[in-house]
Amino acid sequence: MKNKIIVSSLVLFIGACLIGIFFFKDFFIAPTGGDYCNITDIESSYNAEAEIAQALAKMKSSQDKATVIMRSNSGQRRIAITFDGLTDGTSMQQILDLLKKHNVKATFFVDGMQTAEDPQTVVNIKKAGHKIENYSLLGISKMETLPVERVVKDFSRAQKIIKVITDQEPNLLKCNDTNYTDQLLQAAKACGFNSVVKSDVFLNVKQMNSLLAADTFVGKLKPGSILSVKLKPNTEKIVNESGKTDLRPAIDKQPGLKELPQEANLGEKETIAAVERLLIAISKANYTTAYVEDFAADSSMQNPVKTTFFQNSINNVKESIHYSFFIKIASFLQEEFTSLFIGRTAYAAESVNSEVQEIKVISTTEPALSYTFGGLANETVVNDVLTRLHRLGIKATFFVAEVEMKKYPETLRRIIENGHEIGIAIRPKDGETADETRSTILRDSKKLQEQFGVATNLVKQPWGAVSDTTKEVIFSLGYKLIGQSVNVVQNKHKDYTSANQVMAEIFGKSMLSLARGQIVHFRMDYYANDRLVGDLAEIIKQRKVDNIAYATFYDNPANNLSNDSQYTIKPVGEILNNTRFIYRYPVDLTTVSAHLKNDGSEQMIDTHNFLAEASKRYIGNRDVNDNNNMLGFSKMDTRRLDKSGLIHTKDNVIFITFDDWGTDASVNKILYVLRKHNVPATFFILTHNVVNNPNLLRTIAMQGHNIGDHSDKHKPMVVRDPKTGKQVNTQDKEEYIQELATSYQKLLTITGDVNVNGKPMLTKFFRPPTLAISKMGIEVLFETGYEFIVSGSCNTNDYRAKNVPQLEKIIEDGVYTENGEVRKGAILVLHMLDSAAYTAIALDILLTANEAKADSDPSKFKVGRLSDYLIDGYSQISRKSLK
Ligand SMILES: [Zn+2]
Repeated sequence: MKNKIIVSSLVLFIGACLIGIFFFKDFFIAPTGGDYCNITDIESSYNAEAEIAQALAKMKSSQDKATVIMRSNSGQRRIAITFDGLTDGTSMQQILDLLKKHNVKATFFVDGMQTAEDPQTVVNIKKAGHKIENYSLLGISKMETLPVERVVKDFSRAQKIIKVITDQEPNLLKCNDTNYTDQLLQAAKACGFNSVVKSDVFLNVKQMNSLLAADTFVGKLKPGSILSVKLKPNTEKIVNESGKTDLRPAIDKQPGLKELPQEANLGEKETIAAVERLLIAISKANYTTAYVEDFAADSSMQNPVKTTFFQNSINNVKESIHYSFFIKIASFLQEEFTSLFIGRTAYAAESVNSEVQEIKVISTTEPALSYTFGGLANETVVNDVLTRLHRLGIKATFFVAEVEMKKYPETLRRIIENGHEIGIAIRPKDGETADETRSTILRDSKKLQEQFGVATNLVKQPWGAVSDTTKEVIFSLGYKLIGQSVNVVQNKHKDYTSANQVMAEIFGKSMLSLARGQIVHFRMDYYANDRLVGDLAEIIKQRKVDNIAYATFYDNPANNLSNDSQYTIKPVGEILNNTRFIYRYPVDLTTVSAHLKNDGSEQMIDTHNFLAEASKRYIGNRDVNDNNNMLGFSKMDTRRLDKSGLIHTKDNVIFITFDDWGTDASVNKILYVLRKHNVPATFFILTHNVVNNPNLLRTIAMQGHNIGDHSDKHKPMVVRDPKTGKQVNTQDKEEYIQELATSYQKLLTITGDVNVNGKPMLTKFFRPPTLAISKMGIEVLFETGYEFIVSGSCNTNDYRAKNVPQLEKIIEDGVYTENGEVRKGAILVLHMLDSAAYTAIALDILLTANEAKADSDPSKFKVGRLSDYLIDGYSQISRKSLK
């Protein structure tokens, strides 16, 4: 509503301004109307009235349609990349630089309005040798729903603007998320486009978060694909034009201990990084790139969808020619502004809806994951699967399509009788409208309820990219769109006969286990071998789920009921409804305590008190001393820094810490042992990969353990140069600040709101990679708000242990003195890596033996939580006086 008021008042104002021009020439000089007075320039140089009239006349006289360029079938190993819409000039330049670097040709579909706003950028794209094509006036979506006259005006105006600026007329047109109906294709043809373009793949910037992800994405591309990157327009512009209130959403202060040097838009950066990864993966995969127009010859013609509405628009043409100048301008502007608002709102809606994503991994800390199944056509397979699931005690989710409910009602009943969950499978036809999708879902839902007695709110589209329309429909109905993180049955495996063959290709060597919240999907109607799906369901459980449990010869979930370390496989809906474990990711930063969001400014550590503070807040290690790994400190300085690695305390207390990062298979075993003995620990996280498994990190915090930082990429502060033998910093100050901010931000967005017994589990403790320190590194840590640097008294090197007894011995030496007394304040440095295979067992043995001791036994220790000891006012210096 607000927008409408703004638009109307603008139009009125402009109207008044123009009347002023005609009747009171002095009005024009008045400063009030100044900004809008070059409207006449827009009107003249970008005036497309003649083109519009011509196009509308053409539509009347000819039924010719533009062809649709789609994925090329030529079989050549090439793809066409398109960029849809424009983003800010700086980001565009970075994209152009990347294309140049990777020697890639691209097609830029630019929208008329942004081209008018930023002509230089468009000229630069052209100069760089790429093709410029038309993305309509504003890149608005669902253009098939607009009256045809409006569409013709839109196309023609965009075309005129691009022509004026680039001195060239685009041949191709692309509309954003639009069904190319007959009518649209006629309109396009009438406006001078031979073809419209339909992409078959869109780059998902969020998913393209690593080179590996890019490789996987490119690996799945089909040769001949038209791959599109949607660039977001600058949504802030309109706010400035309204000149009233700032409608931008409040931007959270950049989370992290230290604010990152914040550039205008993180989204843009993310897009650019994603594009770079994409280009690297493309060249690695030996694809060549082509312009979309090169695909025109070998693209298959699409059969356009029939439409019923043909607007009365043509009648309006004559009238519009007789419009007075004033009315023409006013209507031009009104339309321009209205559509501008519609356009922006559409984008805004799109970004809101980006949260309406397919659930591929459920954000949960429950030790559970899901199997989903689809495809009822082969009864033998379905029966085999049901038998196996029954034997394994697994309840799963089966997605059924409408046609399957009709054709195989008995099979469906059997699935339901077996206690499995049912969801709806949909396969929207190309160009299906929102209404059609909506009624399919509602019809299926009704049928399930009435004929089979089950209610569901789960929907899955078993193959093909889910369109925004489908997502919106599912969301608006209150249903959940379920995807998968592991797709067991892949096209290339159709004729595979053994589960081992398939396993090797799905999981590779590096995927040791599945994870909490994952969804594993199986298609039952695909393999030539009828037993293969059943085999895989069993083997995946055995090798990738059961291996997560802590199962030693003396403590195994199979015969110890209190061993709760086994993950369960349950229906998707059950995991989603278990709100005790479900969480919001990323964390809502407004709920995070101020202390965790603050930067280091209140610490007031400067050159005067730096050394005094460092000696209070650094808990060292005996191998880190004046000749080794202490770059930048003088000999005098190093004497003031701790080398004991023991926490300053009179209690018989030790501390257990784990470094780096692992998988559910390694971390879950550790968590179970800690839970079994009811002891807290601190996990110093190497954050590089945590975003791939936030559920696991969140679980650690939820179980009452401290989370500390161990850097993002494990670069030590200092290394020894092998040539000179001298110690050198590995990063400069700015790089180090950046690294720490990145790392902390990841921890914050996954665990920032986790409190146990009223205390946050995230800490501002840092463990230096390799334990090496430098003066500069410690300065940066203080500057960025870290409070304690915690190395430790016992390097166990557990990942190198050859067997349990060997590790046991090392740990015991770390915990007890030669006299068998507890080393008060000892910190064990252990690892959560998969390679640290004996760590959980060795700890279990240590803690079991300790529990068996009498309380009066001086060798009995308790396990402390670092955040209870490293509090305000703690000082590591005074430990000498303690003795
Ligand atoms: Zn480490």
